[in-house]
Amino acid sequence: MSRRLERGDRLVLASHNAGKLAEFEQLLAGTGVELVSAARLGLPEPEETADSFAGNAALKAHAAAAASGLPALSDDSGFCVRALVGAPGLYSARWAGPGRDFSVAMQRVRDAVAASADPADTRAWFISVLCLAWPDAEARSFEGRIDGSFAWPPRGGNGHGYDPVFVPDGDTRRFAEMDDAEKNAISHRARSFALFAAGCLPER
Ligand code: IMP
Repeated sequence: MSRRLERGDRLVLASHNAGKLAEFEQLLAGTGVELVSAARLGLPEPEETADSFAGNAALKAHAAAAASGLPALSDDSGFCVRALVGAPGLYSARWAGPGRDFSVAMQRVRDAVAASADPADTRAWFISVLCLAWPDAEARSFEGRIDGSFAWPPRGGNGHGYDPVFVPDGDTRRFAEMDDAEKNAISHRARSFALFAAGCLPER
């Protein structure tokens, strides 16, 4: 299957998150594909009820493509800790509570690892799954992953979410101690986006 976006196409970003919109606008700069946000089109946000990143990404992309009549791109991502059998994973945002306070979420991970069967196992990873869905329901997904470790205490003021407690393999700094360009060169989302770009963006 090699269905691609073409220069001049409008692509809906199936997210109401302004941060994600800015990040994907940057990633798509110069490709000739115009990004419009689900929020700007007034599209509803579906419940993320699937039991996998790929399932949630597909659910969001299909809903946006069907409602808008345009191709739609979604992203579902999360932070996974081996001692917690992959948690918080799909529930990464929810571990921060209704106030979206990630110092709470990071402390919850720390406490859960300490109480786990193997508290010395600090292996952790981020996953990002991108899904491109078309209005006729054809879809393709792309998964990116970066492995590293859960590090305590939190350090660094850049990034977002769990960045202050994640050290990628091959580095000694947390993601939150790197600048955007450094993180974005190696991150899970950079990897899923590179696969999406190779498979679905206009050929230059
Ligand atoms: P989503 O909007 O359902 O994909 O939620 C993803 C959640 O995973 C975010 O709220 C963050 O908690 C976490 N997450 C995903 N990517 C990153 C990252 O690059 N750094 C830190 N946290 C991340």
